[in-house]
Amino acid sequence: MEGAGVRLKRSFPTTALDYPDPFLLFDHFGSDNPEDYLAGFPMHPHRGIETVTYMLAGEVNHRDSLGNAGTIGAGDVQWMTAGRGILHEEMPKPLQGQMEGFQLWVNLPSQLKMTHPRYQEIASTSIPEVILPEGASIRVIAGEVEGARGPVTDIAAEPTYLDIHLQPHSSFSRQVESDHTVLAYLYRGQATWQTASGKYDEQRAALISAPALIVLDEGNWVAVQSAGEAARFLLMSGKPMHEPIVRYGPFVMNTQAEIVQTLKDLRNGTFVVT
Ligand code: FE
Repeated sequence: MEGAGVRLKRSFPTTALDYPDPFLLFDHFGSDNPEDYLAGFPMHPHRGIETVTYMLAGEVNHRDSLGNAGTIGAGDVQWMTAGRGILHEEMPKPLQGQMEGFQLWVNLPSQLKMTHPRYQEIASTSIPEVILPEGASIRVIAGEVEGARGPVTDIAAEPTYLDIHLQPHSSFSRQVESDHTVLAYLYRGQATWQTASGKYDEQRAALISAPALIVLDEGNWVAVQSAGEAARFLLMSGKPMHEPIVRYGPFVMNTQAEIVQTLKDLRNGTFVVT
């Protein structure tokens, strides 16, 4: 349970996986029962991170201390750089009974933790879709596929964020930067996964079923194969920051002193600078 009472699936942080640097949190939200999410996420602060919300169905009404307000719906993305401080509200609503999406938190390096907050809202229509002959269609949110560049740019972790739909009995492979952390989140269907390192050999025969987070932590190449039904997954990669982190709820800084300062700023009314 998060916010004012939103039921969600959290892949990390958990006791099994703290944070695959530079990513800090990954949530999959959505339910057929509005009781599971209507309480939403009333006004709350963030500092030191970026939050990425990607919607599959339904809507989220939002507003923030930068003066932004609006609604994101199916296929839309909100990429928010909290930097030195933002207050925002996120309220999910069903559309035709459905509401589903994802939130990813990306770390900011120490020199950008106190940067001015920034907000990028990307409409579904401005996200390029690449269709490959092997049976994969790819929405490019951040990064590049076959010359199509995602609309989210200038992010410190140099992230790739792809939403990939695989037809039944199809495959997808991709070269990834060998020093980047690579994650996949399978949210529909089943698939097998391989990396260039061969580390996942034992799992070649084993289909992984949705929902599942797959950490592909070695090599510079990833290959995915669907089975008898279509598979859908997110492929996310980013450059590790190799910096110490100290978390306190919606704040992620490098030191305990910076967290203390954050709480002081909130009390003194100096958290949000416009
Ligand atoms: Fe938030």
